[in-house]
Amino acid sequence: MSKTAVFPGSFDPFTRGHDYIVHKSLQLFDKVVIAIGSNSTKQPYFPLEKREEALRKLYAGEKRIQVLSYQGLTVDLCQKINAAFIVRGLRNGTDFEYEKSIAQMNSEMNKEIETVFLLTASSYAHIQSTIVREIIRNGGDISAFIPKGMELK
Ligand code: ADP
Repeated sequence: MSKTAVFPGSFDPFTRGHDYIVHKSLQLFDKVVIAIGSNSTKQPYFPLEKREEALRKLYAGEKRIQVLSYQGLTVDLCQKINAAFIVRGLRNGTDFEYEKSIAQMNSEMNKEIETVFLLTASSYAHIQSTIVREIIRNGGDISAFIPKGMELK
């Protein structure tokens, strides 16, 4: 049976840390679905369409990667598209504590779906979308933090 994993996030913007998790996931799963969640309470910096288009273009050559956006619960999306795994990236212990609660609550909602944590590379552990946004707001260069070839303009 083919194994599909959903990698959910706001990806505002998608960074080299996220890209690392996607590539590690491809080593473990047959298909990776990058699922951009739209959070009704949080106004994003980059519009949803822009984030989605940038990721579609970035991974256009990789047939095993799918990009989509969704609303609602991640476990509901997983059930709808037949994905038995959720992938989340960890940078540090703080990430772990937060992610652990989400994973356990997701597991209570749907026991069939397993969350898999992948540790980021030490060279990407400092990269945070929040800080990338702050650099953009202040006119700085973010090219070292986002995947090569990703167009956000
Ligand atoms: P969310 O709003 O769901 O936290 P993010 O876009 O911030 O979405 O992150 C999506 C996932 O990527 C989360 O599991 C987060 O811990 C992980 N992540 C964020 N930054 C990095 C990084 N530099 N390296 C690896 N994983 C990361």
